[in-house]
Order: sequence, then C-alpha cells, then structure tokens
Amino acid sequence: MADLIFGIWRDEVVDRRGGAAVAPATLPQFEKLDEFEPGNRILAIMAWDGVAVFDDRVDVVDMARAYMEMAQAHSCGKCVPCSMGTRVIADVLARIVDGRGREEDIASIRRLAEFIRAGSMCELGRSSVVALLRLLDHYEPEFRLAVGERRRRPRGHYHAKVTAPCIEACPERLDVPRYIEYIKSGRYAQSLSVIRERNPLAAVCGRVCVRYCEFQCRRGRLDEPVSIKHLKRFVADVQNESALRGEEPPAAGRNGCRVAIIGAGPSGL
Ligand code: SF4
Ligand code: SF4
Repeated sequence: MADLIFGIWRDEVVDRRGGAAVAPATLPQFEKLDEFEPGNRILAIMAWDGVAVFDDRVDVVDMARAYMEMAQAHSCGKCVPCSMGTRVIADVLARIVDGRGREEDIASIRRLAEFIRAGSMCELGRSSVVALLRLLDHYEPEFRLAVGERRRRPRGHYHAKVTAPCIEACPERLDVPRYIEYIKSGRYAQSLSVIRERNPLAAVCGRVCVRYCEFQCRRGRLDEPVSIKHLKRFVADVQNESALRGEEPPAAGRNGCRVAIIGAGPSGL
C-alpha cells in the first residue's frame, strides 16, 4: 500500500503535501490500491466520491482533463447538463493542458460543474463532477499555474474503469445500472440477458440474494436504495411467464457438451 500525498473521500481528507505528516498515511477506501500489475504502480485515482494522489509527479490538471473526457464519453445524452456540460468542461481543460487557458476558465469550470451536479438526470452525471470540484477546492493553485504558464503539458496515460457502487458490491459484478435501464424502457429480454451474462439463475437470486448492492446504492443517501433485487426477480418472472406462453424463442439444441453442477440453487453457480 502506497502512502497518500493527498486524499479525499466524502468528508474525509488526508493532506500530507509539503511533508506535513499530520494526517494518517491513507484512507480506508485507498488501502488496497497499490499496483495495476507488478511493477506498474498506481500514482493517482479519481473516482465518483473523491481523489487520491500517491506521487507528487502527478499532473492533477491533466488527470482532471482525462477524467472529464471519460465522463463525457459515457454520458448517454439524455439530459443537457451532463451531455453538454461535461463536453464543455473537457474541452476547456484540454485547452488549459495545451497551454491556451484563460483567466476566467477556472471559475467557468466550477460554475458548470455545480450546474451538472444539480441538474443532471441521473447519478452518472451528478457524480461525474464531484472529484473535479474537490480537486478545484484543494489544488486550485495548480490549475491557476497551468492557466498562467501557457505551456503545453505532456498528456499522461490513464486507465479507466467504469463502474458503480452496486456493481462493486455485487460478488458477481453484475452490471446493475444497465439491466435496470433496460427494465425502465420496457426491454425485459435485454435486461435479462445482461443479468445472464454473469448469472444464469436470475429468478433465484432475485429471491434469496442478501443484497450487498442495495446497501451500497447511492440512492439510499437520498431516501431508499433502488430495489435492485426485486427488479431482478421481476424481470426474470416476466420473461419466464412469457416463455411459458410460448413467446420466447425455443432453447438451443444440445451441443454434445455436458456440465457438472456441484451444489444446489445459487451455490451451484
Ligand atoms: S446524467 Fe444520466 S441521463 Fe443525463 S446524459 Fe448523463 S448519463 Fe444520460
Ligand atoms: S442501483 Fe444504486 S448504486 Fe447502482 S447505479 Fe443505480 S443508484 Fe447507483
């Protein structure tokens, strides 16, 4: 585990810049983060609720640029604050990194980020700017320097992983947001096929799962978590009923392979 130089996650902050070891060496959320693979150290992280910097060579301005470009690439385009707002922020940050920043850019980025946070339709948009705002709060002099220097900065290499708290909490890493989105638009067969990419027993898990995902669901901070488990049960039941009515295409024939299942029900997964 690498020691933090700077880290923030929700309301917890560790700031050891300038050698001031007045804070703990890490935060629990970053404890297990060390290397991508042996010899390839993680130098910094930006994620939905914060930032971690483990190495003082990290260019946080370029990291913010790369992060917002990735957020923009995953915006579905349904609402303007997220789809257009992330585009504008990513473009302004790219301009700053290319040495063409303007004095007013930082205030504009902040204003726009607040707008995205307040006005986006879903959590992808709302959470896309949290880490950026936190960087602006704690690294504003670095952003101002990048604007004032007017020199092209080298662009770093970043590894992006798109996930959600519910996906990370699920032992099977089910793509929960995707199957819920399909249910929302009435595309139940597509929803079930997303679940079946990783779990062939959707109806069973929709009944017996202990719901690690729901305990982590961000919606729970507002009122109640999304009923992820019951939605899985719902879509599995709807599709089973439609199969019983003969509306489903017939199952593929035998292919000569045999599979041994050890354990009953979900334990046989
Ligand atoms: S906030 Fe959600 S709904 Fe709106 S564009 Fe972004 S991903 Fe789509
Ligand atoms: S189910 Fe909850 S945790 Fe998962 S994407 Fe939706 S709001 Fe986020």
